[in-house]
Amino acid sequence: MFLSVKGLAKSFGENEVLKDINVDMEKGSVLSVIGPSGSGKTTFLRCLNALEQPNKGLFAFHDGLTLDFANSISKKELLELRKKSGMVFQSYNLFPHKTALENVTEGPTIVQKRDKAVVLDLAKELLIKVGLADRMNLYPHQLSGGQQQRVGIARALAMEPELMLFDEPTSALDPELIGEVLRVIKDLAKENWTMVIVTHEIQFASEVSDYVLFMDGGYIVEQGSPEEVLKHPKEMRTKQFLDRIL
Ligand code: ADP
Repeated sequence: MFLSVKGLAKSFGENEVLKDINVDMEKGSVLSVIGPSGSGKTTFLRCLNALEQPNKGLFAFHDGLTLDFANSISKKELLELRKKSGMVFQSYNLFPHKTALENVTEGPTIVQKRDKAVVLDLAKELLIKVGLADRMNLYPHQLSGGQQQRVGIARALAMEPELMLFDEPTSALDPELIGEVLRVIKDLAKENWTMVIVTHEIQFASEVSDYVLFMDGGYIVEQGSPEEVLKHPKEMRTKQFLDRIL
């Protein structure tokens, strides 16, 4: 098991956004999270890399890192949690005044203090991998949304995380640009990256995922293989959601 999450709960003030989230993730597997807007999907993802701190819950990683949020958590533990994953945001969040290449090298050189020449080679390799060999020296405003998101993916990969997190990576994109981003994510799945993907792209989720969670109202209503959850859902709420969006 790569990660086991038990009893994860998160509130914003009175608003209980995650109520009791339990999920196990295998190393090298792709977990997709689907569900209506406001069901807590993004908050779940942000808890996984400490962008939000849970109120309760136990995270147990394969390498022994264990965080019990019922107890107080040190900054060092939060940092260790953060280091495990790379996040790809809905709105790309690139540095506007840096080129594609500089966006990718920034984290590994400034934050991780890795060797500049090694990072530069890696960044170029990653930008080639996401299909941007001829766009490396352009600035975000000179790139399409799909290209910017592929820089976002390269940037997250450059930190060499164990886990990749995608927060609705295609929802800001024009329809004709969605495919190029989904293809990159599919390639990562083939390379056995461990990934959690919040998405509204049900067809994509069914192709790429090993496991699907359907969330509603801060709970996981149903979880299982894509076949089980997306093709033969048992719960009425899952059926209604899929009927609405398919
Ligand atoms: P989803 O990703 O499924 O659309 P979210 O996790 O974004 O759901 O949001 C779930 C609920 O949490 C919403 O009611 C939202 O308003 C609330 N929420 C999310 N982030 C914050 C925040 N930083 N502060 C206050 N409320 C938040």
